[in-house]
Amino acid sequence: MAVEANERVWPRIVVVGSLNLDLVMQVEAFPKEGETLFGSGLSEVAGGKGANQAAAVGKLGTAVSLIGKVGRDASGDKLIHSLQQAGVDTCALLPSDQPTGRALITVNASGHNYIVVIPGANADLTPFDIDEQRQVIEHCEMVVLQLEIPIETVAYTLRLAKRLGKTTILNPAPAPAHQLSSELLQLVDFLIPNEHELQSLTGFQAVADPASLEVAAQSLLELGAQAVLVTLGEKGCCYLDRQQVKTYPARKVEAVDTTAAGDSFIAGFAVSYLQQRDLDAAVAYAQQVAAITVTRHGAQSSLPTREEVEAFG
Ligand code: AMP
Repeated sequence: MAVEANERVWPRIVVVGSLNLDLVMQVEAFPKEGETLFGSGLSEVAGGKGANQAAAVGKLGTAVSLIGKVGRDASGDKLIHSLQQAGVDTCALLPSDQPTGRALITVNASGHNYIVVIPGANADLTPFDIDEQRQVIEHCEMVVLQLEIPIETVAYTLRLAKRLGKTTILNPAPAPAHQLSSELLQLVDFLIPNEHELQSLTGFQAVADPASLEVAAQSLLELGAQAVLVTLGEKGCCYLDRQQVKTYPARKVEAVDTTAAGDSFIAGFAVSYLQQRDLDAAVAYAQQVAAITVTRHGAQSSLPTREEVEAFG
């Protein structure tokens, strides 16, 4: 039975982004160029930064919709099913004539990864599609984006979201090959890159030490971003806006796979910030969520529920 528009539960958070079916390989150490190695495990799991962030929000118990595209294929069906399991509203997912996005992920013994993405249907998400789903954005409070969909669609969505008065989060991942425009950055309330993405975004050669990291992040504020929150893996994160700079250490855990650490961090931040509008509380919650994620293998399979985060403390 079709759900009437007035019966629909509107999301508080809308994620606009990618869905990929990930092929994950476990290896002792990464192969060198031209080298062939034996791996120790293989699995096919739901991923894509948009889907991961939406699934992470869903598992944390906040109403969330994902706007994105999948192929008319078995991979697409698997991804939709997996999102529904995580509590994500999939009514705004659109079919594409392109195949569903795929990612090849290699994870080494210390939990670090190499990832190659084949965008497929994700590259087919257009501003027209966003207009078609405008109602979902109108009803939400916060819009979360990444860079695994076309940049013109990201820019269009941010413009629409700001016109409608929504809080916006941009996770500039994967690292863009060029700097983002000032026009786009001005539409971002929270820009959340990791160290590598910060380097690509700013063209700064090194951001490893706190002073150069601050200079690089500051340049993004000057370009127009309202706030920059740089995630630093096991070192935690650093927040900057025009008034303050704050650093936060990560939670101490035994990491086995850092896939989706950033995605779960962003979801945790979004969920908590929406509830309390408190920066310190949102960062603390994000780091709890991400710390649990790195102790487990996989992308969506490693995301914790709200109850698991509460138990972790
Ligand atoms: P990243 O995307 O690697 O910068 O990580 C995102 C967030 O995940 C960090 O800000 C931390 O909160 C968390 N995180 C990543 N790696 C670890 C780790 N080894 N131990 C604890 N937390 C981590």
